[in-house]
Amino acid sequence: MVELRTINRVPLLGRTLILLMASMFFNFATAQQPFVEYSQRDSTYLKNLHRRDRSPLTVDQLTARHVHRWQLSARRKLIELLGIEQIAKDNRGHQCRVVLQESMPEDGFSRRLGTIETEAGMELPFWLLIPDDSESKERPLAICAQGHGGNSWNNYAGIYQSSAEREKALSRNATPGLEAVRRGYITIVPAVRGLASAVSIADPKSRHGNQLCRAQLIHCLLAGRTAIGERVWDCQRILDWALDELPQIDSKRVLFTGNSGGGVLTVYMAALDQRITVAIPSCSFTSYTDTSGFIFHCDCCLVPRVQSELGDFSDIGALVAPRFLLAVHGKQDGLHYYPAVESAMTNVARIYSLLKQEDKFAHRWGEEGHKFYPQLMWPFVENAFAELRK
Ligand SMILES: [Zn+2]
Repeated sequence: MVELRTINRVPLLGRTLILLMASMFFNFATAQQPFVEYSQRDSTYLKNLHRRDRSPLTVDQLTARHVHRWQLSARRKLIELLGIEQIAKDNRGHQCRVVLQESMPEDGFSRRLGTIETEAGMELPFWLLIPDDSESKERPLAICAQGHGGNSWNNYAGIYQSSAEREKALSRNATPGLEAVRRGYITIVPAVRGLASAVSIADPKSRHGNQLCRAQLIHCLLAGRTAIGERVWDCQRILDWALDELPQIDSKRVLFTGNSGGGVLTVYMAALDQRITVAIPSCSFTSYTDTSGFIFHCDCCLVPRVQSELGDFSDIGALVAPRFLLAVHGKQDGLHYYPAVESAMTNVARIYSLLKQEDKFAHRWGEEGHKFYPQLMWPFVENAFAELRK
């Protein structure tokens, strides 16, 4: 470990070399150690089971002139696999009702608690944060989606149940909604189904491991849906409402971001909904499986048949192109594996390169763990929004 105090006494060129070597050591060491180890039998089985060359819609062999057609096919297939057609069928004729409570003034913005009934009887709460003086000019829209953590959607908007919760949220930079509104964006922070305790289905007798997100998944699978499909459905209805009813929003500048489970949702939302012009998945965007066969994401992110009928998660990320996409990861994030992330991001970068849109995709590593990295995220958003305003 190289200590910063020591580095600061070394001249600039030497300091740069030391940091470069430390970084290379980190990359090399992390890449050399397997993420997990399976028995010989399991390893053979899993490697065979998750072979990527069986996936019909991978981007590996794609050429520039086929990207658009591939995106149409892959998007159609993804809608089917997520069970979104089923959710739409179940909600035919349903009108999403939105109720907003009174506006509360904060320092530089106002806060309103709202609910949206995205399907009959399912009322999702959300925070609507509006910068002061928003009537006078068009504002970008930011939707910040929570990950696992029953109350984290409140934390994202700067609401805490206790000082300990506040300290924890601040230490993980888990306040993107607050940051977005302070940057002048109209901001929505929804409670996410299966992740926020306020909108989760109970797990009586702990039949599904006492995990609300897993209970959601199991119920969805039986009904021809997925948990991710429900989350995408909800966020799309919120987006419908916001773009229709909040006239001060500039529809060309729409950010969707989230960390962890919220980052997974970010990738799917941006892949399917082209109204999102800037997407920032944090600590989440990697392949479905390691080369060993290990599955990185939580059960609730499962999309049945996605590998056999579509491709890898990185292929799904290629559906965001040519819109702005920044993937952020933490070097010390124990949930993800450096080589798998790098390989997945190379896959996405190739599509942006084929489309000659390299400037719209970036992948950045933060120095710490499973958290937001505002210092990496906001400059990318500001640059993207500046481009989109032209
Ligand atoms: Zn989960």
